[in-house]
Parts: sequence; C-alpha cells; structure tokens
Amino acid sequence: MIAHHFTVDLEEYFQVSAFESRVARSQWGRFESRVVGQVAQLLDLLDRHEARATFFVLGWLAYRQGDLIRAIARAGHEVASHGWNHARVTHQSPAQFRSSIRRTKDTLEQISGAPVLGFRAPSFSIVPGREWALDILVEEGYRYDSSLFPVRRPGYGYPAGSPDPHWLERPSGWLAEIPPTTLHWFGLRLPAAGGAYFRLLPYGLVRAAFRQCEGRGVSGTFYIHPWELDPAQPRLPVSWLTRVRHYTGLRRTAERLDWLLGDFRFTAVRDTVAALAAAPGHQLAATRP
Ligand SMILES: [Zn+2]
Repeated sequence: MIAHHFTVDLEEYFQVSAFESRVARSQWGRFESRVVGQVAQLLDLLDRHEARATFFVLGWLAYRQGDLIRAIARAGHEVASHGWNHARVTHQSPAQFRSSIRRTKDTLEQISGAPVLGFRAPSFSIVPGREWALDILVEEGYRYDSSLFPVRRPGYGYPAGSPDPHWLERPSGWLAEIPPTTLHWFGLRLPAAGGAYFRLLPYGLVRAAFRQCEGRGVSGTFYIHPWELDPAQPRLPVSWLTRVRHYTGLRRTAERLDWLLGDFRFTAVRDTVAALAAAPGHQLAATRP
C-alpha cells in the first residue's frame, strides 16, 4: 500500500499571503493566536488514523511557540521549514531568501532537536525564473523542496514541473522535489489536493487524484493549514474573492480530513526522501528545471 504525504503549512490565520496587503507584519504580535487549539485538533485526527505528517513551520511562529513545535515532534511528525515571515520568494532577493531559510532551519533544529530537511515556499512561490532558490536550499543543507506546484495559476505554479516526486539536478547539487498532488483530467493538470481546493471541490475529486497517484505507483502530497479547521477564527476585512477562498467550507474540513485519512495511508515526506536517497534514479528520472 502506497504511503502518501500529509503536509501542514503551519501559520496563523492572519499570516496568509492573501491578507498581506491588509495585515502588516509589524502588526502580527497584536492578533489573537489560535494555532495551538487548531494544531491539537490536527494531531488528534492524525493520531486516530495512525498517520504521520510533515509540518512546514514559519520561523516567526516557532520562535514564539516552542512548546507547540516540541509537541508536534514528540508525536512522531516531521518539522520542516516554511521560511521566517511568510515572504514569498518572488518578493525576496537571493540574500534575503538565504537569511530567512537559514534562520528558520537553525531555530527549528534548536527547538525540535532534529535535523530540518525540507522546505515549502509560502504560496508555492518558487515560480519559473526563481530557480536560484533551489540552489540556495541545497547550499543551506536542505534535502528536499515541496514548492513546485505543476499547474498554471495566477500568481503561482510551475507548469513545466513533474507531477510526481523526483530529483532535481542543480548546479549546487541534488535536491528531491515533492510536488503537491494534481488531478490529471483529459490532458489537464488540476490542483485538487489541498487548501481551498479541498474545502471547495467535491471530495471525490481529491480522492480521485490520490487514486491516480496509486495507479502510477507514487506517493501523492496533500496540504492543509491549521486555520482551515477553525470556523470560529476572527473575520478580517478583506475583498470578496479572498473572503470566499479563505472562509468557505471551514466547517467541512475536519469531517473531510477524517474521510481522507480513512481512505489512504499517510506518512511524513522525510520517509520518501530517505527511500529516494537509498535508490537514486530508481523509477525516477532526474530533471533540470
Ligand atoms: Zn503559508
């Protein structure tokens, strides 16, 4: 039975990119923190289904919530990096990016006591033209990336990316790439495996995407945010479209996660990367983005 990846982008409800123009980073400390209760709910769900997950954690949050990060690691889950302050790669210079991922890795390793191997860019923002970020990840000791979303969407996506786990051969070395899962439908690749898509689309489409992965003999990658389990989160004054994307279906998330965790087996990304490292090239073609 294939083990898929259950991944969590660990950030507060007020730190999402869609709110960036309304909520300045300097204001973050003034908002009510809700992440502890949200993560407790997630850990309980994962525990009931004997599933392991990878948590991509913001350095800013880990610095303030050390006990929460230790609880995640103690429960057997992987702690990985989501950068320091949710700045998108498209809004950073290479030097800023390096500093953010180095500081986050150091902070998470000090707190969790385990090596940090993986990175996911805020809003999947390693897009064509920003491949330098992949080299910096290798240089800073990361072993895998999970930011190349092989779809074409406004503001993000890496359309030429392979949809399944693969090796990237970079000038600085090798990096495993673990892309979020897509649904293949009449020659199109549709984002179907996480976030707003998980709340807004019929569950059957998400299930179909993971079944397609099993048909190809590869692990799929699901992603969710803790705030997506929290219908009681304070409402922020944002545009109509952002409101629909952020607040619709929050009451459905927990039940759907229960279905997903019942339908499939899930593990942390580090397990797949260890298996890939043991058999480089096996089943997987290296690609040069
Ligand atoms: Zn994020």
